[in-house]
Amino acid sequence: MTVDAPRICRVVVAGGGTAGWMTAAAIARTMGRTVQVTLVESEAIGTVGVGESTIPPLIAFNRLLGINEAEFMRETQATFKLGILFDDWKQLGHSYFHSFGLTGRDHWSAGFQHFWLSGLERGHDAPYDEYCLELVAALEGRFGHLPGDQANYAYQLDSARYAGFLRRMAEGDGTVRVEGRITAVELDGESGDIAALMLDGGRRIDGDLFIDCTGFRALLIDGALHAGFDDWTHYLPCDAAIAVQTESLAPPVPYTRAMAHDAGWQWRIPLQHRTGNGIVYCTRYLDHEAALARLLGNIEGPTLTEPNRLRFVTGARRRQWHRNCVAIGLSGGFMEPLESTSIHLIQRAVLRLIRMFPTDGISARDVAEFNDQQMVDMVQIRDFLVLHYKATERRDSAFWRQCADMDVPDTLTQKIELFRETGRVFRRNEELFGENSWVQVMMGQGIVPRSHHPIAEKLSDDELARLLSTLRETVRKSVAGMPNHAAYVASYCGAA
Ligand code: FAD
Repeated sequence: MTVDAPRICRVVVAGGGTAGWMTAAAIARTMGRTVQVTLVESEAIGTVGVGESTIPPLIAFNRLLGINEAEFMRETQATFKLGILFDDWKQLGHSYFHSFGLTGRDHWSAGFQHFWLSGLERGHDAPYDEYCLELVAALEGRFGHLPGDQANYAYQLDSARYAGFLRRMAEGDGTVRVEGRITAVELDGESGDIAALMLDGGRRIDGDLFIDCTGFRALLIDGALHAGFDDWTHYLPCDAAIAVQTESLAPPVPYTRAMAHDAGWQWRIPLQHRTGNGIVYCTRYLDHEAALARLLGNIEGPTLTEPNRLRFVTGARRRQWHRNCVAIGLSGGFMEPLESTSIHLIQRAVLRLIRMFPTDGISARDVAEFNDQQMVDMVQIRDFLVLHYKATERRDSAFWRQCADMDVPDTLTQKIELFRETGRVFRRNEELFGENSWVQVMMGQGIVPRSHHPIAEKLSDDELARLLSTLRETVRKSVAGMPNHAAYVASYCGAA
């Protein structure tokens, strides 16, 4: 603990995108009157304007803030999400699904894939997918809340509306919003910490702790404090995106689509009031005009917005907490939205900061711990994303040949080769993506284990046949009892 350190009670959040308002809302609600939160944002600069697909932990974040789910869904025009459908990643014409659910039933010593593999050897050829409730429900367009949170889900939402929703909540909890452009960041001459943000019109905002939520600009953590950046473009070569919103021609499905093309991929995210679309691509192989033409040629309804063109560098801020500044959101790093992880990383960072909140002064130990944990999160997610590119059988374009041939992190090689040899996957250090995710994506990308755990052989042919058919039957029955997703969303939100 810093000796004689001043108490930290003035928190200044720079930026009011999804990151800024998630941060302000969470700190204001959980820390209460012990801190004063001020948020500065500039309407003229605006936000990045994308970010619609989320993953299940957002439910816990919303619950922590005391948010009513139906009201939140109505305000953000959200739909339910049970996973992601990946088209053309393994091969052209092939699809697989990464669901949020569990598949089959695990034994403590071995995941369900071992039993399924044993079944395959004994002539049971029902696809692995048929043992996962969320997956089957998604593809049938069904959703419903099941007793005991049996179905694991997330949301597809309008993140600008989500930021607005959180803004109202944060302001209600005492956050002061300041409209203005940050023109300079003033450093304390002695300590080198940030002393104040200078705004247009000569205004000045002093603070004790500054949260950089200025997006890709990273005005504080990079512009003022030069906290360093690890560039991961060599693992994830896409560096540009174009987003466009369209009218929906069909009722929303409870899943996001990630459709690979010859130099990247395209997303389709159905909300209640519209569909979000975008193309992610590698400028080395596809120029802007060609990417735009490809995107507009593969959307379903009339466009509602002008195409939003974005450039990015994939990677992570080396020190996400540096001096009295914490980078949250795009200022802390960015990885393409292939597994919808960015909003989640905001959530993780802000909750982590609250756990280590430096009321009595900033401890170097806390800072080191925070930075280490953040980097572990990001590296684990990076490896999972790289898996989708590395484990491809596509060789039809220079982009896919580069991906298939690239060197990948040792941590990922270990995971892939262990699975290929033994069918085993282990979750380490509270890793975001668990065994089910890795198994679904690895098998979806064509990695099939050469062996499985001998525990599966303990079951006789009859026992195994009974287990497999009971599990499939349970899934089929539960899904058959679920309502149509679009109808359920309409009645659920209408009842809010
Ligand atoms: P921004 O939205 O850019 O906000 C920055 C804020 O800082 C704004 O309020 C701006 O006005 C303010 N600001 C900047 N400079 C100044 C200044 N000088 N003075 C005052 N204010 C200033 N995430 C997901 O989880 N799921 C997805 O599906 C997803 N899709 C994505 C697709 C793409 C192509 C991209 C690029 C990102 C995607 N993301 C996704 C990430 C997600 O959009 C971001 O994590 C999220 O929106 C948070 O952004 P932010 O608040 O950090 O930055």
